[in-house]
Amino acid sequence: MATIQTINGPKDSSELGPVLNHEHLTSGMGSFERLGYYNREDAIRRGVEALQNAYDVGIRTVIDCTPLDLGRDELLFDGIAGKTPMNVICATGVYRWVPMPYAAWDEDGAAAFMLREINDGIAGTSIKPGIIKLAWDIEYQLEPLRVQMEKMARGAARAAKAAGVPITCHTRPADYHGDRLLDIFEEEGLDLRAVTIGHTNDSTDMDYVLRMAKRGATVGLDRFSPRIDEAEQERRSRVALTLVEAGYAEQVCLSHDSASYSINGGPPSGGVRPENPRAFCLVSEVQIPWLKAHGVTDHQVDAMLVRSVRASFEAAAAMKK
Ligand SMILES: [Zn+2]
Repeated sequence: MATIQTINGPKDSSELGPVLNHEHLTSGMGSFERLGYYNREDAIRRGVEALQNAYDVGIRTVIDCTPLDLGRDELLFDGIAGKTPMNVICATGVYRWVPMPYAAWDEDGAAAFMLREINDGIAGTSIKPGIIKLAWDIEYQLEPLRVQMEKMARGAARAAKAAGVPITCHTRPADYHGDRLLDIFEEEGLDLRAVTIGHTNDSTDMDYVLRMAKRGATVGLDRFSPRIDEAEQERRSRVALTLVEAGYAEQVCLSHDSASYSINGGPPSGGVRPENPRAFCLVSEVQIPWLKAHGVTDHQVDAMLVRSVRASFEAAAAMKK
């Protein structure tokens, strides 16, 4: 058992139910609302609708993986909290390109920033992040950025240990980020079960995917958006099936990496990206039925939707000294 912070206040890990481990209620950039590019009321309305649709197909918890520099909006959470039956866990941490102010910090400075949000709440509100987001992508190939990104990873690890909260990683599997991240987290003394190596179903290299599970990490098969075609959906479901058949269902979590409201990826003329209000339902409506048709049992489905994420929160809580 572990206490987990949600936008509705603390919950016990046993209360999470089926979880989508990686979604976004908004995605964009901080301060865009001041420039008229972000309509909070619209974002609240769309968020409540998308969460309700997911709730209606059985999901009970959604993890919003949007840190400050990806446009996280605590007032959006505040507006949604009373209007949804869904548990929503929000994130501190850092997105892809390490923002300039962070670049001057050392590992402990980065950890202190995350711990302040975790312990005191976001921007003077009572909303506390329940998880740490860390994003590595193609910019990791650039040496000066790599130094910053590795520093953020160590900062995230130290905050995770001090606060007893898990880390969820956006990775680019084509660059095998999971290997390096797990090395760093091991050096920092983390229980790797408290780390989700996300977007791993972008990978077509099953040796890599299985290696993440063998090393003890939680494996995020958390990209299953309505934008991908049916053949690619099936390929992604096969990644899950392979892990289940190899005995790793308890370490797999499933999600879409969709947004209910997004400025990123909008039309060329600017504006909000048209989002599918059922974008948080595809795992339940398409992927789970496919897996069951291919021999996956209800117990294994529960491992992926309920027990894996719960276990990662409990492993994180156990690290807190
Ligand atoms: Zn994401």
